[in-house]
Amino acid sequence: MREQRTTCDVCDVVKREVNHWWVVGLFDETCNGRNVTRLIISSYDETPTPTTRSAKDACGEKCVHVLVSRWMATGSLEEKVQEVKSQ
Ligand SMILES: [Zn+2]
Repeated sequence: MREQRTTCDVCDVVKREVNHWWVVGLFDETCNGRNVTRLIISSYDETPTPTTRSAKDACGEKCVHVLVSRWMATGSLEEKVQEVKSQ
């Protein structure tokens, strides 16, 4: 069975076998009666918890930084401005 092609959600590089990749995702939980969102960073080989949402694949430290900065600034892992590409 062929593995699905994985690309970095930040820089679009294609994953190869020996790369050290990361998964960055969000995890909701209740803390002191409030709903809070935690940022979870796990190594690619570890299966993310089922409750993790918006999981992104990152090819390395640099791209993990981008995702962390994005989350700290916007509370989301999505790119702030979604460009409408005219084709
Ligand atoms: Zn990348």
